[in-house]
Amino acid sequence: MRDQYGRKIDYMRISITDKCNLRCRYCMPEGVEIVPMSHLLTFEEVVQVCTAAAELGIRKIKVTGGEPLVRRGAPALIGMLRDIPGIDSVTLTTNGVLLKKYLPDLLANGLKSVNVSLDTMDWTLYRQITGQDAFLQVMESIEAAVDAGLQVKINTVLLKGVNEDGWEQMIAYARSHPVDVRFIEIMPIGAGKTYSGVSNEELLRRIREKYPALKEDISIHGNGPACYYSIPGFAGGVGFISAMHGKFCNHCNRIRMSAQGEIKPCLCYGTSVDLRRALRKEFAAGQPSRLQQGTQPSAELKNLLAEAIYQKPQAHCFERADEITENKKMISIGG
Ligand code: SAM
Ligand code: SF4
Repeated sequence: MRDQYGRKIDYMRISITDKCNLRCRYCMPEGVEIVPMSHLLTFEEVVQVCTAAAELGIRKIKVTGGEPLVRRGAPALIGMLRDIPGIDSVTLTTNGVLLKKYLPDLLANGLKSVNVSLDTMDWTLYRQITGQDAFLQVMESIEAAVDAGLQVKINTVLLKGVNEDGWEQMIAYARSHPVDVRFIEIMPIGAGKTYSGVSNEELLRRIREKYPALKEDISIHGNGPACYYSIPGFAGGVGFISAMHGKFCNHCNRIRMSAQGEIKPCLCYGTSVDLRRALRKEFAAGQPSRLQQGTQPSAELKNLLAEAIYQKPQAHCFERADEITENKKMISIGG
């Protein structure tokens, strides 16, 4: 469906947990409170929401978190979502630590593409950024995913004074591996507010200096606002997601759902629509149990979702810090 500004909204990111096995300092520093399991939507509830979303025109779903693979049954959920009529693709964003372990299950459930977040190719810096010694596990996961035929994108956030010079090594990986390496500008959300990022415009300038033959690539690589470039002789590409310095709100096609069932029409604002209450109200009022209800969405659920999509704000306001009303951490929004 279209929102109040006529944008076609066909992509939904759903977070399925706010737990994580890493502690990336700009996302989930130590001490972040974890939501009790009973507050998270069950997989049946997630499927109900996604069925309503598909009826409203959502075609692509990204499963995220927290770290989605720490939630038991995540691969099976991907299979359940792929089976929803109208859904064309279900993909996953992961830190890669458990990806190799769950790869057979993910493939069996029809996963075709995966985004792996990796901010450095230096294992000591990896530990400093994430708090864990899992670099080799992530690299093995990426290679296993590529070998299994998945389309793999690596997402990298560059932070000033932390890993800003690491772009050369990140890009070098795409020389010999058929993966897109994408640079995401840090947004002032949660712990991200305390870091300065690198502007993608500036980064592109530096990359061009090193690789003058860099060429824009207009073929479609994914669901969203990334722009891509190719370098002759490289097996993979280079992408940029420039939420801060290349505002793409005019073309925004997405909504987000937190693990607790709140629909967030825009990352910048705290406004959300609580679907969990609608999902559980019928249950509390003595209607058939949630399992007996199956996965068919109620009219109320669909109306709430339609209203949230319609009300999507025109643009984010990250450049005006005093207008940002979102106080949640990225770990509970899902990135
Ligand atoms: N754990 C999974 C992962 O790391 O891919 C999924 C969730 S994580 C929140 C999704 C993405 O959000 C990661 O690529 C992470 O780097 C990014 N992220 C977290 N905080 C951010 C921020 N403040 N600005 C931009 N991206 C951020
Ligand atoms: Fe966990 Fe992903 Fe956040 Fe890192 S970016 S702390 S892996 S949720």
